Amino acid sequence: MTAENAPDALVIGAGPAGLMAAEALAGAGHSVLVAEAKPSPARKFLMAGKSGLNLTKAEGIEAFLTAYGDCAAPLEEVLRAFDSEDVQNWARGLGQPLFTGSTGRVFPEAMKASPLLRAWLARLDGLGVRIMRRWRWQGWDGDAVLMETPEGLRRLTPRATVLACGGASWARLGSDGAWAAHLLDKVVPFQPANMGFAVDWSAHMERHIGQPVKGIALHAKDTASRGEIVISRAGIEGGGIYEVSRAVRGGAPLTLDLMPDLTTEEIRQRLTRKRGKQSMANHLRKALKWTPEKQALLMEFVRPLPADLAPLIKALPVTHQGPLPMDQAISTAGGLRLDALDGTLMLRDRPGTFAAGEMLDWEAPTGGYLITACLATGLHAGRGAAAWLEARNDGKAEGCLSSE
Ligand SMILES: Cc1cc2nc3c(=O)[nH]c(=O)nc-3n(C[C@H](O)[C@H](O)[C@H](O)COP(=O)(O)OP(=O)(O)OC[C@H]3O[C@@H](n4cnc5c(N)ncnc54)[C@H](O)[C@@H]3O)c2cc1C
Repeated sequence: MTAENAPDALVIGAGPAGLMAAEALAGAGHSVLVAEAKPSPARKFLMAGKSGLNLTKAEGIEAFLTAYGDCAAPLEEVLRAFDSEDVQNWARGLGQPLFTGSTGRVFPEAMKASPLLRAWLARLDGLGVRIMRRWRWQGWDGDAVLMETPEGLRRLTPRATVLACGGASWARLGSDGAWAAHLLDKVVPFQPANMGFAVDWSAHMERHIGQPVKGIALHAKDTASRGEIVISRAGIEGGGIYEVSRAVRGGAPLTLDLMPDLTTEEIRQRLTRKRGKQSMANHLRKALKWTPEKQALLMEFVRPLPADLAPLIKALPVTHQGPLPMDQAISTAGGLRLDALDGTLMLRDRPGTFAAGEMLDWEAPTGGYLITACLATGLHAGRGAAAWLEARNDGKAEGCLSSE
């Protein structure tokens, strides 16, 4: 077995988490092979760049950690070791100038992911990382990693493995969650995260399909968002709803504040201006300077309208039919339980196998928290795997790659 086909480390999945793990391992001097099920790497990452690649959020680590809810404690060490500042330096190191939006969200100036990915893949190539495409991990046979490849089934026995297979949304981009079958006893069922909600619109809404609704706030339990939403054929989508989607998924009622910058009393005063013979729609449009979409939403969710509209405008209850299908969600909750891993992100019951990225059971809102945690866990798992290899360097057991 030559050194070329007997890598020290196997990384499974070429998304941001897997590529970061590969970089850490190769940077520490180990030979690395990345196995990717799809014909090209990082397809979901490229998709993330289509609407502006939000790499991270420029805020202090304490505030940053709160985005991870219950998982902030188990992820704290990992995120402190590669925080928002580190993500920005890493991206700049790949030749990507960045800018920070008014809400602290950080994007590459190019907005998309492709220039960053191109530079990253070139750097990994320079480090000797090999990426095998159309190689799909199919579980283990004893200690051997089973890999379905275009040339047939291969049995690999790398000295260390990093699993980075992603979550369970956007299956066509590779993140199909099928890997869960190989880790069954350690997997929490997937749920959609950062998703839209289905609404059975009346025919009146037809002409508003595809329109954004700006200048509103969304509330669900103790979460709130000032982001915009989009009225889609399927329901309500867009950044604003994603931010409160976890609470709504948990059963919290969703309300819209259609005039977040005015108090109930200020709205009431504006509405008491003379209506005359104007229709209600015209009155609202003129008195509140409303778009047709805001009016349509008000009339859609409450019939008949009460005499005093102001409280309703501040807290319009949204009737929905639950989350849109998981495959359309930006990310997923659930996955590999964090307590199945030790502090180096190594599987407790499979020494030498590490895991990173969205396949782990944590969730966070959009805003750069997802990619940051994928990069941070990828780096941590890669470093853990490198340390594992180094600790065993004395009696270096050869990795092995063979076909069946
Ligand atoms: C439309 C959209 C917009 C987004 N925008 C943002 C954003 O702006 N900011 C942000 O922080 N996040 C964003 N995200 C989320 C972000 O893209 C993901 O959280 C991130 O890509 C997850 O990284 P990962 O490496 O863990 O997994 P993935 O990127 O899903 O990569 C996993 C890889 O593993 C491969 N794989 C899976 N199973 C196997 C197997 N059995 N064998 C071999 N390979 C396998 C897959 O093909 C895939 O290439 C967005 C997501 C979407 C869909």
